[in-house]
Amino acid sequence: MTDLATGLLNQYRAQHPRARFPPLAQKLTSLRDISFDRERESVTSGHLQVSNRGFVLRLGASGNAARRNFTIAHEIGHTFFFNVERKPPSPLLLPSEMANHEIERLCNLFAVSLLLPKSTLKSLLPELNSGPISLPRIEQISRRFTVSPETLIRRIKSLGLFQNPLSFIMLAKRHGGGREPVVDIIASPLSRAVVEFDPSELFLESLSSGDGVDLTFNIRLGGQTLFVNATSKVYGRGPGRYSVACVSLPEPPNL
Ligand SMILES: [Zn+2]
Repeated sequence: MTDLATGLLNQYRAQHPRARFPPLAQKLTSLRDISFDRERESVTSGHLQVSNRGFVLRLGASGNAARRNFTIAHEIGHTFFFNVERKPPSPLLLPSEMANHEIERLCNLFAVSLLLPKSTLKSLLPELNSGPISLPRIEQISRRFTVSPETLIRRIKSLGLFQNPLSFIMLAKRHGGGREPVVDIIASPLSRAVVEFDPSELFLESLSSGDGVDLTFNIRLGGQTLFVNATSKVYGRGPGRYSVACVSLPEPPNL
């Protein structure tokens, strides 16, 4: 899927050498014969249908720019499971295979490869890794690519681009309901510190105004244990809600 995304981006770049790169996913839809139908407000995210001229993408009216960009990129991914030489495009898989979990996973991989291409992200290495990482910096980079902070953080983690020896990123996702959040600590392989964190602290967030809470991280480095505070920030709504905190190591003289 990554190669398909790269191929589509190269096709776009050949036609628009001076345009923003990577482009918004919407700029790529015509290359896959996708037209839009925005009248259907009842659609929560996106829904792709075949038509005599290619595909029609029905997009929900709600959602911010990052969410919309991801949805369109994901739906472009689905078009690669059709024979687009035929009109209307014909499915390359059985109906039962077209909607399974693996296809969704592949379309998500396609979307991040399209919106956050590895080659472009490599140029962010100095920005990500020189000096402590901060939430405003994460947000600034996310906005530049029109993706959510969560999408950016997961992508830099999976590509191994987070090599900051001074900071950690905590990403906590609630998958709806009152379940304990799933916590990811994104740490650099360059750091020798071990970070421990009690996710129950995050339950305080649901009692707060939604701006996050002060969290304490237990950091073991060498023979020392440090307690470092960081403030989380809450993003998204409903089951997609998640929190992010950027944690920086203090610099005591003997560290
Ligand atoms: Zn899908």
